[in-house]
Amino acid sequence: MENIVIIGSGCAGLTAAIYAARAGLSPLVFEGRQPGGQLTTTTEVENFPGFPEGINGPELIMRMRKQAEKFGARFEYATIEGFEHRGVSSRVLVDGAWRETRALIIAGGASPRYLGLPGEKALIGRGLTSCATCDGAFYRDVPVGVVGGGDSACEEAIFLTRFASKVFLIHRRDALRASRIMAERALGHPKIEPVWDSVITSYLTNENGEVRGVALRNTKTDAAREVALQCVFVAIGHDPNTGPFRGALETNPDGYLIQKSGTTTNLAGVFAAGDVADHVYRQAVTAAGQGCAAAIEAERWLTAQG
Ligand code: NAP
Repeated sequence: MENIVIIGSGCAGLTAAIYAARAGLSPLVFEGRQPGGQLTTTTEVENFPGFPEGINGPELIMRMRKQAEKFGARFEYATIEGFEHRGVSSRVLVDGAWRETRALIIAGGASPRYLGLPGEKALIGRGLTSCATCDGAFYRDVPVGVVGGGDSACEEAIFLTRFASKVFLIHRRDALRASRIMAERALGHPKIEPVWDSVITSYLTNENGEVRGVALRNTKTDAAREVALQCVFVAIGHDPNTGPFRGALETNPDGYLIQKSGTTTNLAGVFAAGDVADHVYRQAVTAAGQGCAAAIEAERWLTAQG
């Protein structure tokens, strides 16, 4: 029986681990499919307090993990496949075996969304991706496209200008959702060409089954157009990783876990922190804040249980 199990190793999970470990609870962290979470796929983080010069996303995560380990957090590279609540404890299915814990902090984050077009899944890694920092360097001196109009899309587009000859920023409206500073940087870049009011209707592929372009439809005029490019970077938001908890834990219609008060959920001893529950702020620092809150609430709950 564990005291605290933490699911997820992004900003929320690692901050929960730092607090729980420092409280002497020796938390066990299941790292999930993408250890380190979304920050590992970003470049420079400019808005995390305490780093006026900015800090590289993977480095920030590595530092948090080191800090958690220093206080005695334990890590297992595993993903949760099932969940059961048993009144005053929970159990999670990991690699076919049930593991039991008194308190459970769910900080499994969210995964990138794709467009849902036919044949899309087969193209991932063949000219379709959601991670510019992972795949951008493969597309040197060729045109690429980014889909979306938020901060992520702008950040990816700006990053890709290091490699690509041109970056088409394909957005379904005629105004970006991104913060002003990011929007100005993207739109002011000579290599970035916005493609307004446009949605991708299909991916065009070459004889090797790799992306060679996209077919677009103008949302205002319905006009069709094709753009030649060698990779599409999709940056249209995320879906929460709540699969194993559906049915047992309350979620909103989009699948985000519902926090009752602070980070508590509808089940005793089960807490939710970060992007798995937060569909509003979704920042590294708010995820870290929620991870901290969840660890404190879990510790108090354990104390109350004696
Ligand atoms: P987001 O803000 O939700 O933006 C998603 C974008 O994708 C929107 O422009 C949306 O269009 C578009 N979109 C959604 N579904 C689509 C579809 N099916 N087809 C075409 N376009 C679609 O997501 P995000 O950019 O990933 O940002 C998430 C959060 O992280 C935000 O709070 C953001 O501020 C934060 N973030 C911050 C930074 C930074 O500060 N440096 C960097 C990255 C992310 P509409 O605009 O028409 O809805």
